[in-house]
Amino acid sequence: MEKKYDFLVIGSGLGGLSFALKAVEHGTVCLISKAEMDETNTRYAQGGIAAVTYRPDSYAKHVEDTLVAGDHLCNEEVVKMVVKEGPEQIRELIQWGTKFDKKSSGEYDLAREGGHSEHRILHHKDNTGQEIQRALSVQVRKHPKIDLLENHFAVDLITQHHLGKLVKRHMTDIECYGAYVLNLKTSQVLRILSKTTLLASGGAGNLYSTTTNPTIATGDGVAMVYRAKGIIENMEFVQFHPTSLYNPGESPSFLITEAMRGYGGVLRNQLNEKFMNKYDKRGSLAPRDVVARAIDNEMKVHGHEFVYLDTKHLAERELKEHFPNITEKCSSLGIDISKQVIPVVPAAHYMCGGVKVDMDGQTWIKRLYAVGEVSSTGLHGANRLASNSLIEAMVYANRAAKHAVKNAVGYQFADQIPVWDDSGTTHPEEMVLITQNLKEVKQIMSNYVGIVRSDLRLERATARLEIIYRETEALYKKSNVSQRICELRNLLNVGYLVIKMAQARKESRGLHYNLDYPRRSDQE
Ligand SMILES: Cc1cc2nc3c(=O)[nH]c(=O)nc-3n(C[C@H](O)[C@H](O)[C@H](O)COP(=O)(O)OP(=O)(O)OC[C@H]3O[C@@H](n4cnc5c(N)ncnc54)[C@H](O)[C@@H]3O)c2cc1C
Repeated sequence: MEKKYDFLVIGSGLGGLSFALKAVEHGTVCLISKAEMDETNTRYAQGGIAAVTYRPDSYAKHVEDTLVAGDHLCNEEVVKMVVKEGPEQIRELIQWGTKFDKKSSGEYDLAREGGHSEHRILHHKDNTGQEIQRALSVQVRKHPKIDLLENHFAVDLITQHHLGKLVKRHMTDIECYGAYVLNLKTSQVLRILSKTTLLASGGAGNLYSTTTNPTIATGDGVAMVYRAKGIIENMEFVQFHPTSLYNPGESPSFLITEAMRGYGGVLRNQLNEKFMNKYDKRGSLAPRDVVARAIDNEMKVHGHEFVYLDTKHLAERELKEHFPNITEKCSSLGIDISKQVIPVVPAAHYMCGGVKVDMDGQTWIKRLYAVGEVSSTGLHGANRLASNSLIEAMVYANRAAKHAVKNAVGYQFADQIPVWDDSGTTHPEEMVLITQNLKEVKQIMSNYVGIVRSDLRLERATARLEIIYRETEALYKKSNVSQRICELRNLLNVGYLVIKMAQARKESRGLHYNLDYPRRSDQE
């Protein structure tokens, strides 16, 4: 079956929804998500969205904080652009119905998080992402011209190479004509043809055993672009959130927002020591990578499985008011956060790298855009500043929509696109092979390519992953296409890219920490 739209949007988080709402004013839109529309990383965001709204904050301060967190590997032009265009995008979110918390004075109640020099995080209690997802989903669901296909899984992009023809401004001569999409209810593969395609497929937290990401985050977008020979960059920079709730067996891991440390929460090891000042003069408010490594080290040195976040000294009523979800979650496990400490552990959280895009969200494949966590814009550099990702998704969706709308006019639909060929394949006899391989991939990545790496660990990970890669490719070739085998294959592609890029970086920088290349400051 074949469908045709002006714009195909893959992903229903903030990036995909905001692009769709803008593009639909200029043409037909098909929005697909592999689960229900609201099951996205966006929905899980707690802390909020960073933007300069009041004095004494300024664009210069937000730019500086972003550059410092990014270990000066950010693209400064991009940082300035995102910071400057952020406030306008906040206004759009509010116009679409998003509610941010206000003080009694009527001003927005701005939070401060690790790495920020000012209070600048707009939030809705401690479930900001859920509020944003709610507001935009309402707009998308009621729009008559957006064709929403939930439980539809993009298997691969439809692309063509034009040998010998150099496409203007692009390093490759590849064009994207849409995607092969698996209807998860009927198992039928559709050809969805588009004049332009937007990838907003989110991150890849499920590459690791412990992650704050929901199960949808399997790096499908990065893997699809890699297979289509687009450009992927900065994959070595995987952000681990320092504080997810230690509750073995729970997936995704429940996040204890950084805002709790901004609010006065203090990290302690199991010996009750406030250990952060040993590692950084900013103590518990140091940037995420520093805090995650410090916790990792405390756990390794003492042989402990978690550390504690202490909020006992904070006012009970205010804790409940500001962090109702965390209070409730901890309470459900028998922890009263006004009287007891919270056990926490780092978890894979955010992929800073991804599909390389220019300042309009264009990838290096013509007619293909990428925004949000799947993309690598240059904003985050070697480490993302807290709450900078939602604003990045908004700013880039806006830019990509404007650019795509202008350019789609000149594009035709491709013809003679072959149907999906699954001749000679059967239902896999043993699903256990997929389940077991997935488990092994996560273990390998967690053990050897986690918060602290070394050349030997990376080499070992490569060798182990290669065996699983060969087994999985063989299985893929003879199996009917299914979400589970595709996700395993995609995670293997992404794992390979993380390792290769980690091996290529002969230094420790930002989130990439290799014991064989200590930072200069560590040697002093
Ligand atoms: C627990 C948690 C807390 C966070 N807190 C914050 C915060 O406070 N502030 C902040 O700025 N950021 C935060 N983040 C990060 C932020 O939420 C994400 O980076 C951002 O929401 C990503 O938006 P997105 O639109 O790129 O992707 P997502 O919101 O993840 O959406 C991805 C979409 O792509 C779809 N998809 C994926 N693969 C396929 C496929 N093959 N076929 C079809 N559909 C597919 C999914 O179904 C989903 O609809 C947090 C993340 C987590 C997990």
